[in-house]
Amino acid sequence: MITRTIPSWHQSLINAFRQPDELAHYLQIDPAIFHSGQGLNTKFSMLAPRGFADRMEKGNHKDPLLLQVMPRTEELHTKHGYSCDPVGDADATVAPGVLHKYSSRALLITTGACAIHCRYCFRRNFPYSDSNACSDNLHQALEYLQANRDITEVILSGGDPLILSDAALKSLVLRLEKIGHIQRLRIHSRIPVILPERVTPEIINLLSTSRFQTILVIHSNHANELDESVSQTMRQLKQAGITLLNQSVLLRGINDNPATLYNLSNRLFSIGILPYYLHMLDHALGTTHFELSAKEATSIHLQLQAMLPGYLVPKLVYERAGAKSKLLLS
Ligand SMILES: *Cc1c(COP(=O)(O)O)cnc(C)c1O
Ligand code: SF4
Repeated sequence: MITRTIPSWHQSLINAFRQPDELAHYLQIDPAIFHSGQGLNTKFSMLAPRGFADRMEKGNHKDPLLLQVMPRTEELHTKHGYSCDPVGDADATVAPGVLHKYSSRALLITTGACAIHCRYCFRRNFPYSDSNACSDNLHQALEYLQANRDITEVILSGGDPLILSDAALKSLVLRLEKIGHIQRLRIHSRIPVILPERVTPEIINLLSTSRFQTILVIHSNHANELDESVSQTMRQLKQAGITLLNQSVLLRGINDNPATLYNLSNRLFSIGILPYYLHMLDHALGTTHFELSAKEATSIHLQLQAMLPGYLVPKLVYERAGAKSKLLLS
């Protein structure tokens, strides 16, 4: 009999919390706090691995990790300027799953899947099934990259590229390596934080033996996310020579004060990661309750700047559809 073993990280994903009330009960919190008694019907379902839930504080309905994953009634609010495609991805799509917005860098949407569903995500309304650079479409995506010699860096994004199987990732990296003008491979992934066990020795080996210079940009919004399991994974990545950066989103109720961001930068550095960007929220439908004004954000960022060495201060940026880069707010 042939038995196929599911990788243990995949099993963790299967066991993740998918029912808001179940997560609330696990944390000893009354579920009605989040949705005033009725279940919240949203197309963007809840998803939170148990390892991540274990970093939340029991009994605290304002826990900064919990608020990132728990659907709330506020998601039904709308506001002028909020849309399904707030950053102009549809316009920047040059081939299936390829976004070429900025010079010298192209971004590949490798999958629509993630290991967590962050409620503030700007891609929560993105039509992934029509537009990703996997399987059938990959050929067209690679042709585009091959034909555009100014592209020296390819960014694997999603969704979360590390949710792909080892075989799919390996095949993708090998095919990219054949395109001579690409020098750097950058991976944008929240998985090293959310599901660190997915960063297996095979993945580390793939990245460290590639001909590319490799950069991993993780996504963490709060120091509480960075426990010992994350720290161990980061140590291995760093030892393998991979450049480690972090991007965060500035989120109301989660990290909207200088002290929290100060702790995050210090914690990141202590585990080998430099802060890169602090993003203003993209105005995606369903996320109005996370927004901070430009004035509030600038004030927080200025205070942060006064507390930290320059290299630990992330750049405060926002995206505007059609702009040539991300734009600095302060
Ligand atoms: C953010 C982003 C990049 C990378 O921009 P950097 O400033 O180099 O980090 C590239 N392409 C797209 C479509 C992006 O959204
Ligand atoms: S991991 Fe990234 S892409 Fe996935 S839901 Fe969270 S913010 Fe969005």
